[in-house]
Amino acid sequence: MRKFLICAHCDAQIGVAAYRPLLSWRLDITSHEGYQITPVAGSVQLRIAQRQLADAAPAEELEARWRLDFINRNLQEVIYDLPCRRGHRTLMTEPQIARAIRQSQGEWVKLVEAQYFG
Ligand SMILES: [Zn+2]
Repeated sequence: MRKFLICAHCDAQIGVAAYRPLLSWRLDITSHEGYQITPVAGSVQLRIAQRQLADAAPAEELEARWRLDFINRNLQEVIYDLPCRRGHRTLMTEPQIARAIRQSQGEWVKLVEAQYFG
């Protein structure tokens, strides 16, 4: 199954996901530039998110806090931080992305991040 992933913040395509539900469960995401996107370990993402929150401008603080909170709550999951060519980032766990892929009808998958502090 091959689907095009759409940024959670705009309508840009951020990657192509190859999903094989029947073989060994596997999600491969290739960016729109053609390179493989690999998830980063939660502990590393946590450090990055802490630094981003420390450096965040007031307007960015809510999102930075949400990212830190999200990573903290999902440390046991594989987390993808998918970049968009317009500078957005879509932060989702692998099961969330897999669910979005399964639920989408066509070949386009609009990604939706978890609610802020939801
Ligand atoms: Zn975007």
